[in-house]
Amino acid sequence: MSDETETKLDFIRTIVDDDIKSGKHDQIVTRFPPEPNGYLHIGHAKAICLSFGIRDEFADVAPNGTKVHLRFDDTNPVKEEQEYIDSIKKDVRWLGFDWNELYFASDYFGQLYEWAKLLIANGKAYVDDQDAEQMRLGRGTLTAPGTDSPFRDRPAEESLDLFERMKAGEFPDGSRVLRAKIDMASPNLNMRDPVMYRILHAEHPRTGDVWCIYPMYDYAHGESDWIEGITHSLCTLEFEDHRPLYNWFVEQIQACGGKPAGPPVVDYPPRQIEFSRLNVNYTVMSKRKFLQLVNDHHVNGWDDPRMPTLSGMRRRGYTPEAIRAFVAKTGVTKFNSVSEIALLEHFLRNDLNKRALRVMGVLRPLKLLVTNYPEGQVEEMDAINNPEDEGAGKRKVPFSRELYIEQSDFMEDPPKKFFRLGPGREVRLRYGYWVTCTDFVKNDDGEVVEVHCTYDPETKGGNSPPDGRKVKGTIHWVSAQHALDAEVRLYDHLFKNENPYEVEEGGDPGTWLDNLNPESLEVLAGCKVERSLADAAAGTPYQFERTGYFCVDSGDSSVDGLVFNRTVGLRDTWAKINKKKK
Ligand code: ATP
Ligand code: MG
Repeated sequence: MSDETETKLDFIRTIVDDDIKSGKHDQIVTRFPPEPNGYLHIGHAKAICLSFGIRDEFADVAPNGTKVHLRFDDTNPVKEEQEYIDSIKKDVRWLGFDWNELYFASDYFGQLYEWAKLLIANGKAYVDDQDAEQMRLGRGTLTAPGTDSPFRDRPAEESLDLFERMKAGEFPDGSRVLRAKIDMASPNLNMRDPVMYRILHAEHPRTGDVWCIYPMYDYAHGESDWIEGITHSLCTLEFEDHRPLYNWFVEQIQACGGKPAGPPVVDYPPRQIEFSRLNVNYTVMSKRKFLQLVNDHHVNGWDDPRMPTLSGMRRRGYTPEAIRAFVAKTGVTKFNSVSEIALLEHFLRNDLNKRALRVMGVLRPLKLLVTNYPEGQVEEMDAINNPEDEGAGKRKVPFSRELYIEQSDFMEDPPKKFFRLGPGREVRLRYGYWVTCTDFVKNDDGEVVEVHCTYDPETKGGNSPPDGRKVKGTIHWVSAQHALDAEVRLYDHLFKNENPYEVEEGGDPGTWLDNLNPESLEVLAGCKVERSLADAAAGTPYQFERTGYFCVDSGDSSVDGLVFNRTVGLRDTWAKINKKKK
């Protein structure tokens, strides 16, 4: 597998391409229709990249160009909030896309209501007085047909009157619904007289208390697409069984003489096309589940860096470029599958490697005293900011007598293959000097707390000495008096299992929460980072040499208390897995 995106068109782009070439459409209009009941996750990124991608890729191919709409599917006021609307806009833009037009399904409440009355008047919808349980029983099963509601054949005038009174607020929640009159014996359960409207005495974020009846998704969605002149309505596979209903509503309204107000935008009704959802291992992928994780405090909010929400990933240090490359690689198909998080991390590393400035940061500090280095002396050493990008230039890092190195870079009694520091051993301090360990100090608990060494002045900058001596290891360090204190947060998978829904034999399938990884967050206090990070901005990626990619945490970091997130480690596990597979 190479990292380049395929040039062959996927099945949806092929349809779009054919529709332009055949002259069916001279303008292509797509939409992304999130329900504002949570934050966007990486699954949504796939839907966004597809609908916005088509807008961009076919802009010069369609004679009248292309458009994409962002439409908030705000038909359920009970679960929807302005906070979610704002976050969704922000996340779409962050991912690198902007919409041509912004809409809300609630913009169409008036039109949808009028069409509902049109359908009732034409005997295609009726008010049902049954309660939810009665309706459920009447719906039948996959193998048994449903039974007609006793209200199915009530006169249209009676349904119209009741529907208007539902709207006027005369009835309590749940007492009545409006249903489409289709076929209670249809093998497709969605066609068994689906509910079009329910009564909900709830304040809507946009329409306030104007409405106390709200349209169901299936009734609102196709018509919203139709009103906006959407040509290709792209959604995930679970809507495949809803497509006959999607088409039914538009066809029936048309047959009854209904049409969207304003100039006709397209000659054809919108066409719904389904593709498979993006799933990623070691995580669930549903707003409802994420809301539960947030509400039950398993994570610290929607933008917790462990969450596969776009806001969480942004905070963690993911780049939109990496997410887009990953999504492109997973492709657009009809087959459900699970993608590997390691593949996403592979794209992330590729991207960060190009752009991240290299710095030195010590996560678990151990004091290193250079005993022959003059006390009080400080030398400014040249350090390269990014070997992948000459334009990134150089910086100065201070070297002094007291340094910090990683605890793991010293061993009291190292094995042969350990090329770092140990008694009598010599290593290169990156950009500093070569140093040889002379002895070390332990505390009362027997832990090594300070290592002593001498340096060779002939190795300034970390360069080889004239005598041709070799050294095998290079380690990072910071000058103790110049280093900044920092907290560093290390993240692991949110779930222990590749498949969070996996249960032990005989286990309760509802216990996906039991599979949460208790070690998904490790907080390291007292880390020491080089002084150039004093004014690091949130979101700017850094590579702590030998340690991983990091960024300043946008939520909790301040001048007085630097906090870094580890975005991803350096080791490419995907490349490794893939090599093994070959
Ligand atoms: P969730 O189950 O997480 O709540 P949803 O499908 O209810 O997701 P919506 O806000 O209704 O979320 O989705 C907006 C669009 O994003 C829909 O067209 C939906 O098909 C698409 N989408 C949602 N999840 C995924 C996913 N995992 N992969 C691809 N597209 C997705
Ligand atoms: Mg939904």
